[in-house]
Amino acid sequence: MDFYRVMVSFGKRKLFACGCLAEMINYNRTSCPSCGIEWAMPDHNKLFNDKSWNMKIYMSRDHYADFIASDLPGSGIVSEHAKKILMENFNNTIDFGNIEMISFRNLTDQKLKEIRDDFGYAAVKKIPNDPPQYYRMLLKQGADLDFEKSNIKLILDCHKCGRKNYDRPRDTGTSSNIYIIESTWKYYDLFHVEGKGNTIFCSERFIDIYDQNKLTGLEFEKVQTVR
Ligand SMILES: [Zn+2]
Repeated sequence: MDFYRVMVSFGKRKLFACGCLAEMINYNRTSCPSCGIEWAMPDHNKLFNDKSWNMKIYMSRDHYADFIASDLPGSGIVSEHAKKILMENFNNTIDFGNIEMISFRNLTDQKLKEIRDDFGYAAVKKIPNDPPQYYRMLLKQGADLDFEKSNIKLILDCHKCGRKNYDRPRDTGTSSNIYIIESTWKYYDLFHVEGKGNTIFCSERFIDIYDQNKLTGLEFEKVQTVR
């Protein structure tokens, strides 16, 4: 079995819209009394899998892909169309959380000022009204990495908050140093692996279905398999 790292494409001839965070909803930052990490949730894994929090996002422009880049915490952001295809084909292995989509007209004056200060007036003018609905993908851990070959070390394992920190090579965007152990694969077609945070991996079957349904916004890079 070959596995691939899933990366968001910024678009070739015309840039795709990115999802930008306007506001977090019900997202509580707590400081762990044991490890002291301030942004750790009661269970760190819930950052990716808990539906109790939500967020308001606005789009950077009006050229929409099915999978979009974002500055948001957690995993990938997908369109209504992609959500439907994923639910039809990957039953029970992918769940979805809501997102509140924000129009240009609903951004506060304060937020607009921040965007203008950070990215300039041209960026403010590109923010669309009435963007399509997107969703947060909630993925499970689907395989183990060979930590030694992948050069990843566990440096914090907090039993209080569940937080795990890893020392790993600087992410240079190449996938040649990521080793997935085939025998540990749980047959999910889209998944996370412990030690690589919110990086998403997929099977060949996922890419087939992505292509057949002409979904947009992703690129795939093969990783190493330990057989
Ligand atoms: Zn902790």
